[in-house]
Amino acid sequence: MSVFDHPEFDSHESLHYFHDETTGLKAIVAIHSTALGPGAGGTRRWVYEQDADALTDVLRLSRGMTYKNAVAGLKFGGGKAVILASEDTPKSPQLLRAFGRSVDSLGGRYVTAEDVGCTVDDMRYVGEETEYVSGLPQTGTDAGGDPSPWTAIGCFDGIEAAVAARLGKNSLEGIRVAVQGVGHVGLHLCKLLHEAGAELIISDVNTDHVKQTLAEVPATVVAPNELLFADVDVLAPCALGNILTSTTIPKLRATVIAGAANNQLSTPEDGARLAERDILYAPDYVINAGGIISVAAEYYGGASEDDVRTDVGRIKNRLEDIFEQAKRTGRPTNELADELARSLVAAAHQDNGAL
Ligand code: NAD
Repeated sequence: MSVFDHPEFDSHESLHYFHDETTGLKAIVAIHSTALGPGAGGTRRWVYEQDADALTDVLRLSRGMTYKNAVAGLKFGGGKAVILASEDTPKSPQLLRAFGRSVDSLGGRYVTAEDVGCTVDDMRYVGEETEYVSGLPQTGTDAGGDPSPWTAIGCFDGIEAAVAARLGKNSLEGIRVAVQGVGHVGLHLCKLLHEAGAELIISDVNTDHVKQTLAEVPATVVAPNELLFADVDVLAPCALGNILTSTTIPKLRATVIAGAANNQLSTPEDGARLAERDILYAPDYVINAGGIISVAAEYYGGASEDDVRTDVGRIKNRLEDIFEQAKRTGRPTNELADELARSLVAAAHQDNGAL
């Protein structure tokens, strides 16, 4: 199948395949849009069953980054990288440097950072080969470093907004929250939720991550295949995407869905399915923008941690606006967010054309 006929192809500006013979690096970078700035988005390192799944992932994720960066008001377009992991190609400084050279060869049209399967330390190696990288170790009180705590803060604020809008409660005390995936973001989120008095139900396919979380907060652990359908107020997806489908939605018991995972909806129609069931969905790329807000502040420089906190705080206001509009118009929240994102990108195209 041609990339141009791929169901997830959506006028992406460019797609780049990289291979490094020495380290076995296989990576794909998708640049969806540079209308608002360089295509920016993290690097996901994941074992894909087939190469085609990696392509689907990078096409969807890069478009999501365009929307996320536009709605967050950042001077970034949308891009994303996936590294196809395998036992034969372990993550090594050499492989990450080879990836850094790949990013560098794009001349700044793509800016990378960490995503699932990558860490701040990994970005240091990438940064030895390119300046087009962010999410590097923080220096002093300047903005920067691991973006995931900021993503968790934005999600926490977003959960508060969603609980207020859907359940009419101004506190998370006693609210039952199921967190799917307790990795970088999920663990931070669990700590914030616990401090706010929420009751936690967690699951992760990685038992070490479950143990690490239980060492920090009390939680009920359920099997990964049960978590989505737990009897809770809030479902906070913090693992991978494609979990809200025509099959899973009828079985959900949560009334609010608000979490960090990218591409939670399998298709845009799933947003309407949630709305029909009166489940309030916080559009993923709106609620999970905290990390990229920090990444942008670090990349462009001149911002402090306090500035990042202020900007991350605006996520809550954006969600409140979307929830209010959804209530007034009866339209699904994902549609409203997509419409906003597309209008911002279209306006940037017009401005660029007018230059
Ligand atoms: P991570 O890799 O640190 O954590 C993901 C966790 O999910 C891992 O512990 C993994 O074992 C677990 N997991 C995978 N499949 C699972 C399943 N079926 N059931 C339960 N657990 C499962 O990644 P992260 O950085 O915490 O990101 C989590 C999600 O949030 C991803 O979708 C990512 O794209 C998104 N996101 C992350 C950031 C960030 O700042 N890190 C920003 C925006 C969006």
